[in-house]
Amino acid sequence: MPFQASTPFNAAQAERHLWLPYSQMHTAPAPMAVASAQGSLITLQDGRQLVDGVASWWTASHGSSHPHITKALAEQALAMPHIMMGGLVHTQAQRLAARLAALAPGDLNRVFLCDSGSVAMEAAVKMALQYHINRSDGDTQKRRHKVLFFEGAYHGDTMGMMALCDPTEGMHHLFSNMLQQQVMAPLPVDQASLERLEAILDNQGHDIAAMVVEPLVQGAGGMVFHHPEVLRHLRRLCDSHGVLLIADEVFTGFGRTGTFFACEQAAIVPDIMALSKALTGGAIGLGAALARDSVFEGFLGDDPEKALMHGPTFMGNPLACAAANASLDLFEDQPRLEQARAVGAAMAQQLERCRSLENVRDVRTLGAIGVVELNETWLARTSTDKLRQAFIAEGVWLRPFRNVIALTPAFTIGDEELRTLTNAVWNVLSGGAP
Ligand SMILES: *Cc1c(COP(=O)(O)O)cnc(C)c1O
Repeated sequence: MPFQASTPFNAAQAERHLWLPYSQMHTAPAPMAVASAQGSLITLQDGRQLVDGVASWWTASHGSSHPHITKALAEQALAMPHIMMGGLVHTQAQRLAARLAALAPGDLNRVFLCDSGSVAMEAAVKMALQYHINRSDGDTQKRRHKVLFFEGAYHGDTMGMMALCDPTEGMHHLFSNMLQQQVMAPLPVDQASLERLEAILDNQGHDIAAMVVEPLVQGAGGMVFHHPEVLRHLRRLCDSHGVLLIADEVFTGFGRTGTFFACEQAAIVPDIMALSKALTGGAIGLGAALARDSVFEGFLGDDPEKALMHGPTFMGNPLACAAANASLDLFEDQPRLEQARAVGAAMAQQLERCRSLENVRDVRTLGAIGVVELNETWLARTSTDKLRQAFIAEGVWLRPFRNVIALTPAFTIGDEELRTLTNAVWNVLSGGAP
């Protein structure tokens, strides 16, 4: 039936039209409608309230609907919600680019704005491929057309990025026949894996344009942490093989690991860095790919074909840039990194008791990321959907995925709200399979 504006809203009917992500719509519990989200509290349409343990998919680091950000959005909406960037710019984007360049390590000075994490990574990879094409000066032998990624990786849902996600571990194995073959390697977390990676680079390095890594934490792959030393190995190997290093800080950026960017903990400068998720403090979609001076210079010259061939319609949206600038103000004015580390320390302490449970395989924290990894045989007797329902009954919003319960709250979460979260994890896991 055609929708008419005059038709009264009917929740049961509305449910028949939305298609939700990563969700078996036949069996999944009906999604709950949210009326408002303030700070770390989600208020449902039916009046129930849940403590947000996810920070709205790892984005709302200052809590939801932060007044400084919503004010910036409202003011920008009145002035100019959007203007195309093909040949035009605006002060919100200029200011944001300058601030990101100042915050980023080393000479990551050029900022390409786009609208999501996957597209920031697409732009980053395209920059790397075209950088090598531009340098080859027509000699196709010198072109490098492969990208190296790591086992357990997740870099997004677009066709290009699906080819850089772990095919068996990731969510994209169904499409593997249709995707470009790229080069998967182990993260060099020990001597044996380092030697395997070195062997792959010795054999195929001349073909590889870029190496992509999620620094310190593989997020969607199951919140797996690695030591900063791993990133120093990658930087050294990329340098010796002429490969560009792309840091996917879409999840780790903006304080989540306890430093502003994860790369800082290894004191490395990637050649390209992708940002999104918490860039606007969770208010609106925005992505960015930052390139070092040397990468940007590879696109300069008299030949128009050497220009970067990418340009999303809504790139650099002024509303999104205003929200991102407001979020950066909050990082300047508030002790956010200290708060992130304090939230992490509190989670480490409060989640520790879960380690004794037989259904728990590991408990770990890094920055403001708290992880309870579940025993898979136990998990097979229940389901992440059922766990989610049990958490809702405890008054918290947690979305277990794969074999982990990940707590990624706002850095501003209150002590009592955090207690509610960690108690809920204990209550659900110590109570047997839901
Ligand atoms: C979420 C995520 C992406 C994809 O970002 P979208 O905005 O969902 O497209 C890419 N890389 C990492 C590390 C992510 O966590």
